[in-house]
Amino acid sequence: MADRKIYLASPTMHGDEQRFVQEAFDTNWVAPLGPNVNGFEEEMAAYAGTSHAAALDSGTAALHLAMKLLGVQEGDYVMCSSLTFAASCNPITYEKATPVFIDSEPGTWNMSPEALRRALEKYPHPKAVECVHLYGTPARIDEIMEICEEYGVPFLEDAAESLGSTYSSERLGQTKMTGTFGRFGAYSFNGNKIITTSGGGMLVSGDGEAIQKARFLSTQARDPARWYQHSRIGYNYRMSNITAGIGRGQLLHIGEHITRKREIYETYRNAFADIDAITLNPMNPRGEANCWLTGMVIDRDCPVTPDQVMDALQAANIESRPIWKPMHLQPVYADAPFFADPQGAENGTGSVSADIFERGLCLPSDIKNTPEEMEEIIGIVRGLFC
Ligand SMILES: *Cc1c(COP(=O)(O)O)cnc(C)c1O
Repeated sequence: MADRKIYLASPTMHGDEQRFVQEAFDTNWVAPLGPNVNGFEEEMAAYAGTSHAAALDSGTAALHLAMKLLGVQEGDYVMCSSLTFAASCNPITYEKATPVFIDSEPGTWNMSPEALRRALEKYPHPKAVECVHLYGTPARIDEIMEICEEYGVPFLEDAAESLGSTYSSERLGQTKMTGTFGRFGAYSFNGNKIITTSGGGMLVSGDGEAIQKARFLSTQARDPARWYQHSRIGYNYRMSNITAGIGRGQLLHIGEHITRKREIYETYRNAFADIDAITLNPMNPRGEANCWLTGMVIDRDCPVTPDQVMDALQAANIESRPIWKPMHLQPVYADAPFFADPQGAENGTGSVSADIFERGLCLPSDIKNTPEEMEEIIGIVRGLFC
């Protein structure tokens, strides 16, 4: 077995990160505030094409503060994509509200507008609709926002995986980055995301007052008094100046990262084009995905299983990963309501998301993979199908 390991998605550093971190050390800004924090916020807002951003210590913290700012509390409902990572919906539960899980639609694997409509017929007054752009593919934002407007519900984007992905809105006549369509958008800089700060997140919004409030809540909600006075419960969620330095350095290279991720997706697409049983995760024709992770699903009538593919890769010291297990199938969310896409009835699992989970996996999508390594991965996968 090779002593090298091929990763699913590992950090890629360039040297600029260290320059910003060194500057922080040189000026002794080793604190959860400082010029890198302010700089990273401004640069992220400019990159995403929005006006305001709050740097936080995780994407989960960004989503949690979004819940606070949207006024989510006990007894409330929040609609949330089911096919996602638990960090999307746990913040709903932190506030003692109930997540209502919405199935995927096959076209983008993201929130099904039809299922959302069904959910809103039963629960017409949720506090928010939280939509995830899975693996970097933009959801059907126009349809979802139209439904949100019809019901007067705020739209929230979990763009943790989709920083840099764009969507061309017919309704707005505008192409914008995912995360900037909703009242709030959340990004993550966890170790395996498209850019990383080792751990971190950003809450963005066009509402400057709300972002100012997010900063206040993220630094223990201290009232403007000489002594330590608190009228609200706060959090210790602020990003550190060291972490923000890594982020500023990474952001200089996000374009390269996305180009490489798209090449990886294209490489897999071409490599498996002649294998009818393999379909890659879909693209949204109205969007340009950052292709954070390439996913694939195997036809139901093919004898090869995702486990077999993952085992074969693992035997060669190559990392892959199952598709997120849908939240409506998680033991901890067994009691939460769930609304399926109409097409879910056709596949035997009852939902589109469960079908994708059962038949799918994420392929190694590390931007440092060499052409030879990509060939090796492809060879192992192809070997199982031919
Ligand atoms: C990574 C991720 C998060 C959480 O981000 P952290 O920075 O790890 O807290 C939230 N939602 C999705 C869909 C993610 O992939």
